[in-house]
Amino acid sequence: MTKRFKRTVENFKCENCGVEVFGNGYTDHCPECLWGKHVDIYPGDRAARCGGAMKPIGIEVIGGRYRIRYLCQKCDHEFVIHSAKNDNFEEILKITKRM
Ligand SMILES: [Zn+2]
Ligand SMILES: [Zn+2]
Repeated sequence: MTKRFKRTVENFKCENCGVEVFGNGYTDHCPECLWGKHVDIYPGDRAARCGGAMKPIGIEVIGGRYRIRYLCQKCDHEFVIHSAKNDNFEEILKITKRM
């Protein structure tokens, strides 16, 4: 059996800043504070049972694209995802300065 990427459109409320996030099927983090939720083992698979808050701990720039490194506050899982177009750029800069 082959595993296929399942596109799930879902809205969620950010557990860190309380903003209402409108999912487009790929949304895995809050565009305002950039915190995420530990729901994926691999991006988009929604296979993790953890559900812990994912704290953005670092920014990587690869080929001109931003990637956000996360650390789950519950299980210490580390995760890197691509930054979304609508991400709050000031937050990205803040994380860069904290590194
Ligand atoms: Zn948020
Ligand atoms: Zn976790």
